[in-house]
Amino acid sequence: MKKKFSLPAQITVALIAGIIVGLICAGLGLADFTANYLKPFGTIFINLLKFIVVPVVVLSMVSGIVSMGDMKKVGSVGWKSLAYFLCTTAIACVIGLVIANLFNGAGLFKALPLAEGAEWTGATDAKFMDTLVNIFPTNLWESFRTANMLQVIVISLMIGGGILAAGEKGEMCKKLVESAYAVVEQVMAFIITLSPIGVFTMIAWVVATQGAQIIGSLALVILCAYVAYILHTILVYSLSVKVFAGMDPLDFFHGAASAMIFAFTSASSAATLPVSTECVRNMGGDDDISSFVLPLGCTVNMDGTAIYQCVATVFLAACCGINLTIGQMVTVVITATVASIGTAGVSGAGMIMLAMVLTAMGIPVDMIMIIYGVDRIFDMGRTTLNITGDMSCALCVSVWENGRLKW
Ligand code: ASP
Repeated sequence: MKKKFSLPAQITVALIAGIIVGLICAGLGLADFTANYLKPFGTIFINLLKFIVVPVVVLSMVSGIVSMGDMKKVGSVGWKSLAYFLCTTAIACVIGLVIANLFNGAGLFKALPLAEGAEWTGATDAKFMDTLVNIFPTNLWESFRTANMLQVIVISLMIGGGILAAGEKGEMCKKLVESAYAVVEQVMAFIITLSPIGVFTMIAWVVATQGAQIIGSLALVILCAYVAYILHTILVYSLSVKVFAGMDPLDFFHGAASAMIFAFTSASSAATLPVSTECVRNMGGDDDISSFVLPLGCTVNMDGTAIYQCVATVFLAACCGINLTIGQMVTVVITATVASIGTAGVSGAGMIMLAMVLTAMGIPVDMIMIIYGVDRIFDMGRTTLNITGDMSCALCVSVWENGRLKW
């Protein structure tokens, strides 16, 4: 029998081919070609994922809650997941700060001036209390329309809880949700089959248009962030799946590979949700638990973003001639953890929330413009970490709740 060319294999081939095409286009001065003719196909693909993400989050969370059967179990899964998210994010901040300080201490962070006239126009007023108030929706359709994921999660929790509380009278709603989710899953499966096209076109565009900047002056800051990303992945995720889920870390990374590659190229946790759901299912995670944990994680659990915010803060502080004290670093850990929770799972969101950390440190927010041009490169790595953390959490919580994985 002929062996099927599996999706993870297709995605890997697409990644390698995209890098090669990107390098060739960069060499031939065809970066515009990739931006004008390749990237649009990647954008179509990401748009399709964005279109499906709100229905997926709502239906998968509601059906996850309903199938768990009682709010006590939902509460138990919820608290365990949040505890896992908070601990790993705090560890991510510490790793980010340690590595950034090592680079800075070794004199590797060369201060770069802000380009003449550069001005930061992103949000600067992201305060903790505002984030808290904004979690609660005022209008259901508005939250769906703007894909405000924290609000979408609150809505899903309330609807799921409502169906459970309604008992027999809620039966019809329960069936409706289950049936709608089955339909959305089919649409999702179709969109996922297109992912090699998305991966190929997006990576070719990134390599062709931003390859030169990686080699340029910001290379060391990018290297620093990637060292911290890799360290966190190896230390925290390998250990947690090994210790809590009893899984061989190599099996975990093998199983998670297609979602990781996908996150790397799309730079969006929300867009990666359908792929990570599939990966966790294949690794033996509990469906009900992962349909609750993954949408929650792709909205609030952002270890990569936290690392990036710590590294960027140390670097930009160095550019201003500031060396952070231990007390200030504790503030960075706290604000970066909160900022990462408030970061939306879409590309570039972590850079906007960086403003919150910089403001807390008294660093001018305009300094973000120094790293603005290469944000995509940071973003690809941080998104990969963000969704890897969600997948490891879903597996650990599956084992905590059921005693073992499905296989
Ligand atoms: N792009 C990241 C994500 O989707 C968020 C960020 O910009 O840090 O997870």
